[in-house]
Amino acid sequence: MPDQHASALHPRLVRLIEAEGPMPVSDYMARCLGDPEHGYYMQADPFGRSGDFITAPEVSQLFGEILGAWVVHAWEAIGAPDRVALVEFGPGRGTLSADMLRVARLRPAFLGALTLHLVETSPRLRATQNQTLANCGAAIDWHDSTATLPDDVPLLIVANEFFDALPIRQFVRDRSAWRERCIGLDDRGALRFQAGLATLDDTDLPPHLKSAPDGAVLETQPVANAILQDLAERLARQGGTALVIDYGYAQTAVGETLQAVRNHRPVPVLGTPGEADLTAHVNFEAFARAAHCPPVSARPLMTQGDFLLRLGLLERAGQLGAGRSSGVQDGIRDDVERLAAPDQMGNLFKVMALAPAGIRLAAFDEA
Ligand code: SAH
Repeated sequence: MPDQHASALHPRLVRLIEAEGPMPVSDYMARCLGDPEHGYYMQADPFGRSGDFITAPEVSQLFGEILGAWVVHAWEAIGAPDRVALVEFGPGRGTLSADMLRVARLRPAFLGALTLHLVETSPRLRATQNQTLANCGAAIDWHDSTATLPDDVPLLIVANEFFDALPIRQFVRDRSAWRERCIGLDDRGALRFQAGLATLDDTDLPPHLKSAPDGAVLETQPVANAILQDLAERLARQGGTALVIDYGYAQTAVGETLQAVRNHRPVPVLGTPGEADLTAHVNFEAFARAAHCPPVSARPLMTQGDFLLRLGLLERAGQLGAGRSSGVQDGIRDDVERLAAPDQMGNLFKVMALAPAGIRLAAFDEA
């Protein structure tokens, strides 16, 4: 058994469970990632080759530049308004916004129209973002949640690997009911999974899930769905578009996707709370339902590989490598593979776009 006492958050979780009883997976996830003192995103900079994991914007500037070009196109598609909010959720180190804005600078009218809004709860990462974006050419506002986002201008929203960090609930099939999975204590005081008392109302579940075998695990993402619904309602009122990129599945299915990663390696979910990244795959079918708010709806889901290739990943990579050493060119080729190859990030990561009907979106609405 892993040593669970190695983390600073562990004793606090044990005390909470002793006082209040078994804790749903969603609470565990929220505390591990967001505890103000010992939460994962509150204490460390986990990104990059030396961190725990690497995200697309940290793999290559090509990713952010292509998203930047998409956003400029979206701004034009909604009529090039003279005031617009570019909103990034969970900006990490700020690399994606910096790369997007480098492209935006090529369109001074766009840069002049926008303010940048970053939704980020970690004070530590806010400081890093502030540094990365010091010369980005736009005024920046930080937000704890969607509640304080501007409500009088169109929004151009981007979220890369944000929704996978939001708390999910897990339910375990047990004699024709779905019982919530919780974290309790074994008789030696170590954290362990156990069934809780709450059950899932399965009225809306697809029929094939109603006959799932005992022990099957079903995940739900109430927090993520609520945020997406809020964004769709805002887009319906204020205008604009959203681009959501994450790893996930296109149809509701049973299966456990909650995982912990430390040092680029999977580790036990209960092993070192607060010191490993915890994520779960995103259910894009649930997202499409949450985002349905006429005239706004989700466009058909696309893989990250298709999305980047349609927007000229290979051509941009060629430009970036032109006249450079063969070592640099090999590096760029590796990055392109990493971002778009089906066996790397290309298929696992999906891209969902939201926009009012009739707005033409690059990559999604092309012949
Ligand atoms: N988009 C970045 C980082 C992804 S990691 C990239 O692609 O590199 C997840 C990010 O979301 C971190 O910045 C983390 O601090 C932030 N985050 C996690 N939960 C959050 C929440 N509930 N509200 C706002 N930000 C959150």
